[in-house]
Amino acid sequence: MTVWNRLEPLLGKVQKPARYIGCEDGAQTPEHRPEAAAWLLGYPDTYEIGLPNQGLQILREIINEHPLGVAERTYAPWTDLEELMRLEGVPLFSVDSHRAAADFDIMAFNLSAELTYTNLVNLIDLAGVPIRSVDREPGHLLIGVGGHCTYNPEPIADFVDFVVLGDGEEVVGEITEVVAAWRVAGKPDRLGVLRDLAGIAGVYVPSLYEAIYDADGRLVETVPLDSAAPPVVEKRTLPDLAEWPYPRQQLVPLTEVVHDRLNVEVFRGCTRGCRFCQAGMITRPVRERPADQVRTMVADGLRRTGYDEVALTSLSTADFSGIEQVVSETVNDPEFGGQVSVSLPSLRVDAFTVGIAGQIGKARRTGLTFAPEAGTWRMRQVINKLVREEDLYAAVRSAYSQGWRRMKLYFLTGLPTETDEDTLGIASLARNVVAIGREYHKSPSVTISVGGFVPKAFTPFQWFGQNTQEELRRKINLLRDELRRDHAVKLKWHDPRASAAEGIVSRGDRRLGAVIEDVWRHGGTFQEWTEKFDLQFWLDALERQGLTLEQYVYRHREEHEALPWDHISAGLHRDFLWMEWRDALNEVGLEDCRWTPCYDCGACTGYGVEHVVASAVPPAGGSQGTGQDLTVGGEVPVTLLATRPARSDAAVAAGASG
Ligand code: SF4
Repeated sequence: MTVWNRLEPLLGKVQKPARYIGCEDGAQTPEHRPEAAAWLLGYPDTYEIGLPNQGLQILREIINEHPLGVAERTYAPWTDLEELMRLEGVPLFSVDSHRAAADFDIMAFNLSAELTYTNLVNLIDLAGVPIRSVDREPGHLLIGVGGHCTYNPEPIADFVDFVVLGDGEEVVGEITEVVAAWRVAGKPDRLGVLRDLAGIAGVYVPSLYEAIYDADGRLVETVPLDSAAPPVVEKRTLPDLAEWPYPRQQLVPLTEVVHDRLNVEVFRGCTRGCRFCQAGMITRPVRERPADQVRTMVADGLRRTGYDEVALTSLSTADFSGIEQVVSETVNDPEFGGQVSVSLPSLRVDAFTVGIAGQIGKARRTGLTFAPEAGTWRMRQVINKLVREEDLYAAVRSAYSQGWRRMKLYFLTGLPTETDEDTLGIASLARNVVAIGREYHKSPSVTISVGGFVPKAFTPFQWFGQNTQEELRRKINLLRDELRRDHAVKLKWHDPRASAAEGIVSRGDRRLGAVIEDVWRHGGTFQEWTEKFDLQFWLDALERQGLTLEQYVYRHREEHEALPWDHISAGLHRDFLWMEWRDALNEVGLEDCRWTPCYDCGACTGYGVEHVVASAVPPAGGSQGTGQDLTVGGEVPVTLLATRPARSDAAVAAGASG
């Protein structure tokens, strides 16, 4: 039932009440039906951060179109409202119809940042559900999660009933059918529905598995306890994005949110092979949306929402075939009077051209962001971000020449084998970018953002021991001292303490559940927020559990050591990742398999899917892809084979591209 009558009097007493009222353009208040499984889809952070999340918006529409499903949304109330809700006994609610969470069958969250785990626990509690799955009764909500973080689900295994791995578009329909049948049967028992969910490909039910440790407290393996649970749970991969042109009705908020613009996903996956990048590894292969569909989604979306900005999203949008044409047709569309600007939030410097700079800058010129990630070529070979300095300078020259003045450059520090020379390389890259800017403008500015590297599951760096906070701080100070007199270069950095906390949960095992619960019980919510983050919560909780930072964060893993996510599969062969780790240490780069023969990483071969790319040649510009000079672009004939041959050992050893 609705909690609106009890909620409304509280809204006058809190900051930003518009966060809680829904009513956005594109919102739906679906009719709940006895035969339909009711989903409450959530993002475990505030409305401003959660509303633009495309994953939730896509799933909301797909479930609402399903004959056996309905879906509404929820976000984390800020601490002021939470306090009042707890005082007045108001439970967590949906923003669409203000129904109490307990009226739904499933509450499912998108998890894209590990530090939101304490908010996840808080929202389960606010919904009136026992935080640990073992304490739940048949009438309680099923708690589900999905998103990139869940590729290592073990730290939150105690709190969730099921985990969705990979693309959600198809699997939510299958879950809806199982839960609708359970609902119609009167929710007879919980184990039965969990066993049925475990039978769906891509769904992991943690309570049906047990983690086994040796006498020294080292993980030995994670094994199924039930015949319904597969020994390894494989991710789901949509073979063709063209079949899923969602969201069709992107929400237009009434209040300020991050990324407040039309968002259209142009492709999923990335095969550039950056070794630090979990998103690139777990979302393989590349699946492009047809350019015509992108144009239609953009035009329909702009028309419906009234936005004058569209972001073409992906992990590396400049790699999209025909990007210049799509951008040009959007900004020059007479229907929108030349007033539309296009942002490409994820730009690779080696695929950014004067053409793109000219087009996206036509309507509005805000800052441009590039991510060289490391300061020296040696370091970029280690991380396999094979961007040459010349590529960066050519990209910023294109931008400056087209009228841009402000550049943002993203870097990581604390990478494997990093030396002080590599760190200081960041300063010289930034200075050179400023010098190029001065050829075009009087006072160009460059902001460099430096984040402390946190290794993630299913990347070649999953074995690497993270830099300590002290070491990260020393490197940042080194850079700060170096840039002290460069007024055109502004340095920003991510708090090394937050990198340490993220490191605890990123590669943690089931024992971390007690730590997350402890942090939550001591008031540690909104740990993604600088003003709320406190490493001491985490250190105290670790200590109380007899665990250490050294064990989870700073220690290098061994080749054959059991990893907490060994019973999960992102498709990637472990020996491919290990070979990549060795290649990293040997400073050997690996080219993009989109335009070269397959290396048999497992992501396509294991699932019978393959890249969907409109162009068989790499985009203009850049040095990566074929081992040839691509600055001229478009001249490398590569035939995409229906079934790609495995890379031969000899080719692997030679690092050759075939
Ligand atoms: S299976 Fe081959 S083609 Fe597919 S992502 Fe892996 S290396 Fe690339």
